[in-house]
Amino acid sequence: MYDIIVIGAGPAGMTAAIYARRAAKTVLVLEALSYGGQILNTPDIENYPVEAHISGFDFSTKVYEQAKGLGAEFVFEKAVEIKDEGGVKTVVTPKNSYQAKAVILATGSENRKLGLEDEQRLTGKGISYCATCDGNFYRNKVVAVVGGGNTALEDALYLADLAKQVYLIHRRDSFRGDDTNAARLKARENVEIIYNANVTKLIAEKRLKAIEVTDKLDGSVRTIELNGLFVAVGRVPENQNFANLVQLDDAGYAVAGEDCHTATPGVFVAGDNRVKTLRQLVTATADGAMAATEAVKFVNSL
Ligand code: NAP
Repeated sequence: MYDIIVIGAGPAGMTAAIYARRAAKTVLVLEALSYGGQILNTPDIENYPVEAHISGFDFSTKVYEQAKGLGAEFVFEKAVEIKDEGGVKTVVTPKNSYQAKAVILATGSENRKLGLEDEQRLTGKGISYCATCDGNFYRNKVVAVVGGGNTALEDALYLADLAKQVYLIHRRDSFRGDDTNAARLKARENVEIIYNANVTKLIAEKRLKAIEVTDKLDGSVRTIELNGLFVAVGRVPENQNFANLVQLDDAGYAVAGEDCHTATPGVFVAGDNRVKTLRQLVTATADGAMAATEAVKFVNSL
């Protein structure tokens, strides 16, 4: 029996583990993939206090080592269910089940798909959701990025350093992402921005070889031959497995205030899967601190 199980080893979950260990609680962190979460895909973080520049990988590794050093246990299994039995929470994975007095859901979110035919088959064969992971395969090649948020803008900037030509396709005429990123992108000679357009068809043999892009204003269709398509159209919160204990809003985010309490006593939520107005690294780590502090209070009250 642990005091606290944290589900998710992204910045929110690992910060929660640090705070809970500093309060001398036993802590298990369950993670489906690898530590770091979404921030692993960011090549250069320049808006987190202390370090002017740090890669998402280096940031995550430092936080992981800090949490491990303080005594948090990490197990790489996916939590698929939580049972709340008389106050004891049982977290079920495909291999095991683990018990705790309190649980913090720091599951973050997964990539939103375009929903096009063959998108899944072509993932890894010309379609990618991670420019920093796969960009290197497209040196001196032609790529497109879809999306208008900071991820799409940063991906396009990153790829502009590697690829021969980058198309950025956005469904509106203004970006959701920061003006700074947009200005940097507009200054790049090998970047063409296509506004008011959607990717409407994937053209492939074994690998993706072209896309059809439809102009939303006049309906015209343009075919772009390319080697890679990077999809950066936002994320979907990963709360589905815990809807029995947590209220979700229409978009699937866990409903909880700044104190990170959910409707179920002893179940807290931290990070990008929580309802909030600003999803950033700094707000994710802040959530981790808050959720752990509240979870510690809960455990002490039992
Ligand atoms: P996002 O901000 O939600 O942006 C998603 C983009 O994809 C939007 O431009 C949206 O268009 C577009 N989109 C959504 N569904 C689409 C579809 N089906 N087809 C075509 N386009 C679609 O997601 P994000 O860029 O991944 O960023 C997530 C959060 O992380 C944001 O808060 C962002 O600021 C933050 N972030 C921060 C940094 C940083 O600070 N360094 C880096 C990366 C991300 P509309 O604009 O028309 O809705």
